Amino acid sequence: MTPIVLNLSIAAGQIRYDWTLDQVMELYQLPFNDLMFLAASIHRQNFNPNEVQVSTLLSIKTGSCPEDCKYCPQSAHYSTGLEKEKLIEIDQVIAQAKAALDSGASRFCMGAAWRSPTERDMPQVVEMVRQVKSMGLETCMTLGMLDQKQAQTLSDAGLDYYNHNLDTSPEFYGQIISTRTFGDRLATLQHVRDSGMKVCSGGILGMGEQQADRASMLIELARMEPQPESVPVNMLVRVPGTPMESAEDVDPFDFIRTVAVARIMMPASHVRLSAGRESMNDQMQSMAFFAGANSIFYGEKLLTTANPEANRDKELFRRLGIQPEGKATEVRVGSWTPENCPKNNNRFYDATMGKKEKSVN
Ligand code: SF4
Repeated sequence: MTPIVLNLSIAAGQIRYDWTLDQVMELYQLPFNDLMFLAASIHRQNFNPNEVQVSTLLSIKTGSCPEDCKYCPQSAHYSTGLEKEKLIEIDQVIAQAKAALDSGASRFCMGAAWRSPTERDMPQVVEMVRQVKSMGLETCMTLGMLDQKQAQTLSDAGLDYYNHNLDTSPEFYGQIISTRTFGDRLATLQHVRDSGMKVCSGGILGMGEQQADRASMLIELARMEPQPESVPVNMLVRVPGTPMESAEDVDPFDFIRTVAVARIMMPASHVRLSAGRESMNDQMQSMAFFAGANSIFYGEKLLTTANPEANRDKELFRRLGIQPEGKATEVRVGSWTPENCPKNNNRFYDATMGKKEKSVN
């Protein structure tokens, strides 16, 4: 199976925007160990493999969303018993952001169940961004569709990241959502990019899609120039009352394959283990980290579904020797050079044992 590495010219530091479905399917069909080795190698060329970026997510407006995303308990189209909440006060956001900071999070994500924010809501949202940012946290929001003006307003307020998932492939998208199009999603992401914010976009596995749909979704993400800085890979959380409540399980190895393929196709992006992590055991999560996942959400809730307790995450990090991104100072095995590792907060590491942190500028 060596030829694929040569055929696809997967080289250190190289980012490709022209993946074909055949090539991506070929990656998916590699023997698992070969795929893991390839993904882990590329991961090491671009990131410290013992660091995982930690974000915390807060729902700032819950439920009553007019969209009909079939997986979502916040949609007004389904009866899920979800407790609805209007846009919360800034004081509540600040208290939660402080708790996130204290628990080691570096990014604070705020999510609102809207089709898109209204003009009336924007001033409050902008103030949230300003205040959270002034605490020294990176800021991220997910508020639904944005037009160019809204994206620019948020960017000007200091919003670092905007999350807007593609969810699935363009081919399968119509099976999941009917109230907006795949093209609408791409348009919002373009507005986000044009405004100068960083893009967070990924998808959900386990909604009945085929492997080719997963490949096609990753191709859409990898085709963006620049590629999204953050790529969440979610496992469907089957919420009773949604049309997806009886969806079939995803084979854990298929999930990890998608993490690995995402890492290979988007070598410089953070690949995030996101929704559904609470149903993954420690072994599965550690395998996902090895495959190239290097971002998680800490905290008790992921918008409206349970997320593993922060303490369980800390204990897992301790057992695996993983540190929150930006806090690790030691690498025991590596292959970074200044040429192939432009990231890691301007640090690089050499391949010898022990502490080898250096500054490149
Ligand atoms: S996923 Fe977002 S847009 Fe879709 S129903 Fe849920 S809150 Fe609304």
